[in-house]
Amino acid sequence: MHGELFKSRCERCQLPFDDTNIYHEVPLCACSGKIRPHICWFAERPFGMDRVLRTLEVCTVFIAIGTSGLVEPAASFVGQTKARTFYIGPEEPLNLASFDETFTGKAGELLPTMFDVGDLRPSPKSQVYRHP
Ligand SMILES: [Zn+2]
Repeated sequence: MHGELFKSRCERCQLPFDDTNIYHEVPLCACSGKIRPHICWFAERPFGMDRVLRTLEVCTVFIAIGTSGLVEPAASFVGQTKARTFYIGPEEPLNLASFDETFTGKAGELLPTMFDVGDLRPSPKSQVYRHP
């Protein structure tokens, strides 16, 4: 969705390629287009949005990890799915009310155990779990 740091692409051709070079000037493609990092800047459409939106329609479990719940379009994904939704992160996201269940704590510690909550059917109301 955000691209790949060790790839670049031509602004004109758009085809990404592996690139770990360090540049002191903006490099040019053979087509004379400017080469740029193959990442999504703010205000640009993230990569793979068609696939993301299709997946939101059919997924049954949606997990957001460590997001602020502020930056769009990702902040709205939780509201675009009928899946059972989970948030895992060190602090509550700004879109907390959109999640079925929220786990605050370190994702590396919570993820291995979080599905021990039992039934994975959608819960009728939000639940917030706080990890010490
Ligand atoms: Zn080019």
